[in-house]
Amino acid sequence: MPQIMPERHLFGPGPTNAYPEATVALGFPLLGHLDPAFIERLDNTCEMLRTVWGTTNQRTLPLSGTGSAGMEAAFVNTVGPGDVAVIAVNGLFGERMCDVAARCGAEVVRVDHEWGQPVDAERVAAAHPAPKVIAAVHAETSTGSLSDISALGELKGDAILIADAVTSIAGTELAADDWGIDVGYAGTQKCIGVAPGLAPFTISDAAFERRIEKPQSWYLDLGMLGGYAGTKASGRTYHHTAPVAMVASLEAGLERVLAEGLENVWARHWAAGTALQNGIEEMGLDLFAAEGHRLPQLTSVVVPDGVDSAKVRRYLLERFQIEIGAGVGQFASTVWRIGLMGPNANPASVTLILGALKEAVAKA
Ligand code: PLP
Repeated sequence: MPQIMPERHLFGPGPTNAYPEATVALGFPLLGHLDPAFIERLDNTCEMLRTVWGTTNQRTLPLSGTGSAGMEAAFVNTVGPGDVAVIAVNGLFGERMCDVAARCGAEVVRVDHEWGQPVDAERVAAAHPAPKVIAAVHAETSTGSLSDISALGELKGDAILIADAVTSIAGTELAADDWGIDVGYAGTQKCIGVAPGLAPFTISDAAFERRIEKPQSWYLDLGMLGGYAGTKASGRTYHHTAPVAMVASLEAGLERVLAEGLENVWARHWAAGTALQNGIEEMGLDLFAAEGHRLPQLTSVVVPDGVDSAKVRRYLLERFQIEIGAGVGQFASTVWRIGLMGPNANPASVTLILGALKEAVAKA
């Protein structure tokens, strides 16, 4: 028998609680992956993904795999041996982009930033005269900082602009076409409020034309995946078995988000995040991410001197069933990360986490 855990309040940087509609959809009877009724749902899902991405790209689809699969797909299809990739690094996920691009054989030009700071578009654009790719993370989950991707879009020249929107999608304004994003990948488990498992992905026609013809990954070859989903081509080609339950769940989650209205969803995340950040500062704690560039959906807090970070997290989990995240890398024990994403971005969550954190800091 699986052990039934008490209900958790997931306020971590990882999976959030899903919107109820998305959870219910996981339990629907399964459709066959080539059943026309499923294909219709897949098309509907791709269409809604275009809306949340802010794009008209025909190749917009839920890749089978988590956000990291999206990251791999972005690089493996655009850079090969010797291609120059300029990558902004202001946290863990920028670091990972460098690793992925290097494994594709790219010549990686890193542009390092202090963690917690946003990406400096001018410095990134000046790092190389003619890169094939420029890449940056929109919402750095490891630090809680938000970067201006449109500034990179203005300065990208002929480069293909890759943006990681894993934590920003359906939480913070995202306008792929207006901002000049050529290739974007995201995740389902953050602000979209669906279980982890798919990577909402988009690529412009122009970037698709410049892709690597035979990428080193068969599974993530966008040349073949375009026929599986993401285009309105009549005759659908079989590429792999679509994870039908996850697609149904994503469809339900997106319907929920769009019924509320994207701008309302962004505003709800903004209101919850700023209320949490104000409350934390009123408690006398410091925020980690640079002021003016803080993500509402992921709040990074400096662990006060003399307080044991792990003890506080354990206290929250055991006493309140609240899970928050530790920091990453050199900030593992000096930063907490609190996510208010999807259904958790609401005033009740703010009150709960503020009260619980206050008690935990005092008693742990
Ligand atoms: N990029 C960012 C900004 C993330 O926050 C994450 C995961 O938290 C990833 C990429 C990797 O996504 P996944 O863990 O879903 O593979």
